[in-house]
Amino acid sequence: MNIGFIGLGIMGRPMAKNLLKAGYALTVYDKFAAMDDLVALGAKAATSNKEVAAHSEVIITMLPNSPQVREAVLGADGVLDGARSGTILVDMSSIAPAAAQEICAAVKAKGVVMIDAPVSGGEPKAIEGTLAIMVGGDVKAFASVKPILEKLGSSAVHVGEIGAGNVTKLANQIIVALNIAAVSEAFVLATKAGVNPEAVFNAIKGGLAGSTVMNAKIPMILDGNFKPGFRIELHIKDLQNALDTAHALNVPVPLTANIMETLQALKCDEMGANDHSAIVRYYERCFRTPTFTWSRSPMVARERSRR
Ligand code: NAD
Repeated sequence: MNIGFIGLGIMGRPMAKNLLKAGYALTVYDKFAAMDDLVALGAKAATSNKEVAAHSEVIITMLPNSPQVREAVLGADGVLDGARSGTILVDMSSIAPAAAQEICAAVKAKGVVMIDAPVSGGEPKAIEGTLAIMVGGDVKAFASVKPILEKLGSSAVHVGEIGAGNVTKLANQIIVALNIAAVSEAFVLATKAGVNPEAVFNAIKGGLAGSTVMNAKIPMILDGNFKPGFRIELHIKDLQNALDTAHALNVPVPLTANIMETLQALKCDEMGANDHSAIVRYYERCFRTPTFTWSRSPMVARERSRR
């Protein structure tokens, strides 16, 4: 089977490599990134998204967000220009559920079936081929691409109609962001109280507070290593999609709004390209400078002038 792979970033590149290792014929394209290493492994490099589609029965996209998927699929020289009726489009990017539904409806007119299949697990699991994949859309299309997805992940679970994959991913992203924040808050407190954070980790990781997030992020935090991984700016994108989706459904998400502002503060501090484990830096700063920040706030100045 000929597979097309579009978007060769932190996630897409190792995923494409796993498909080559599994013996699939692969045509690849990225608008900005080099493709030489994949060509060296046997992939054919295309010069446009349209050319990928012309060579492929199944096309996988792994792009940053809804606008990029819209452009790659529906834009000039896009997937839809090159795809034939019966092609299956598997969008594995994390995008807004409403955008997935809209793009699915647009490609349907040409006989292309789209499913949304975002992933969790980050770069290490993309390299290992052990991602958790959450799938929304046509059940028959899912069944026919499941053997491919199984080369990329250790699980591929159908969760509902088109867009349901991305709804599930939003839930995942809320939980991950809040989990990192909780771990950061607790470990900065323990450190400030004079307890060795490594000892805290060893003492609690096997108990109820232990988590996959803690196991993955505490070693990075203790090393001061914030190389992405998953960039803060991508997490902001996911939480914006979560806030938009929740508000459209009239669902309040106060914890999501709160952690969103923490991430925004880090982005303002030029940390947007860091791994999301750098959420800990927000807490480290708060602990160092609360009096300084408070005494200079305009509200305090107004209060003082009234006295
Ligand atoms: P990335 O920015 O590293 O890669 C995206 C790639 O898409 C880039 O190489 C870019 O050049 C390419 N691209 C952008 N627009 C394009 C277009 N119109 N046509 C062709 N190529 C285009 O991002 P990533 O970290 O690989 O993440 C990809 C998706 O996976 C995102 O939706 C992200 O939220 C999700 N995700 C990432 C992680 C992670 O840990 N990095 C984990 C789970 C899910």
